[in-house]
Amino acid sequence: ESKIKKADWIVYNTALEIDQSETLTLISDLKEAIQKNQLLLYIQPKIDVKTRKTLGGEALIRWVHPEKGMIFPDQFIPFAEQTGIISEITNWMLLRACQVLADYRSQGLHMSLAVNLSTRDLNNMELPEQIADLLKIHRLDAKALKLEITEGSLMQDPERAETVVRKLAAMGLHLAIDDFGTGYSSLAYLRQLPVQELKIDRSFVMFMDKNTGDASIVKSTIDLAHNLGLNVVAEGIENEEVLGQLAKLGCDEGQGYFIGKPMPEKDFSIWLERWEG
Ligand code: C2E
Ligand code: CA
Ligand code: CA
Ligand code: CA
Repeated sequence: ESKIKKADWIVYNTALEIDQSETLTLISDLKEAIQKNQLLLYIQPKIDVKTRKTLGGEALIRWVHPEKGMIFPDQFIPFAEQTGIISEITNWMLLRACQVLADYRSQGLHMSLAVNLSTRDLNNMELPEQIADLLKIHRLDAKALKLEITEGSLMQDPERAETVVRKLAAMGLHLAIDDFGTGYSSLAYLRQLPVQELKIDRSFVMFMDKNTGDASIVKSTIDLAHNLGLNVVAEGIENEEVLGQLAKLGCDEGQGYFIGKPMPEKDFSIWLERWEG
């Protein structure tokens, strides 16, 4: 019986049912994944909705297991967060993202890459300094690296998270609120945070060409973001209609399968050539 069967089992059952030995197996599997280079950084392109020019991308993790093949983040990120291994995964992603950015720059490509942070990352007081070191080693402008945080990840320990967020912002990093519209945090709270960007959750965007309710949520979110002086990104753009609708509504940036699916970092330049024509 393969170890990943257990991983699937853990994700699909409640955490309460996990027996300790299986938890330990998954932890060691994930540690091995990091050491044995089974993790990959995928990139999903982000474009300017109006001009359709490429602005950069979002870094998304993939785990290529020797027997099980590709494992998607929803199957191991929640577990990694519960157990604390997420810190190692985040560090790995940040390092890879900086390497990729430095690599692009040497090819004359000036892009930004967004990395997803978890609750634990936002409670890690050392994170800002770790990121500062990475930027310095790779001689990167802080603006090249964006960080995506969710409303939920701010709520666990808001004071601590806010301290970390303020340090990151003071370093010149751009922060985005991810999955906007799915959380419950108050606008009054979000407004006083040093974030530059709202990402509208894909559940509102995917069917906005067919569902007028979704379209009006997207419209009011765009207006709201702009009234707060924030950049707004729509994710989950799956067809031309939605992209056109978003342009009319004044949305700034977009990503989705219609533009490009997440791809291995080495395929990005091929995608870019095709997209930019
Ligand atoms: P997310 O941050 O909301 O990332 C966007 C997800 O939407 C990605 O799924 C992406 O493949 C998917 N997506 C993009 N465009 C479309 C579209 O047009 N239609 C549809 N149906 N889906 C689209 P993915 O890569 O499976 O990642 C799932 C989640 O896992 C991410 O959601 C994020 O919360 C988490 N995740 C991924 N990589 C990392 C990571 O390195 N660190 C952390 N902490 N979380 C990560
Ligand atoms: Ca994200
Ligand atoms: Ca999202
Ligand atoms: Ca999500």
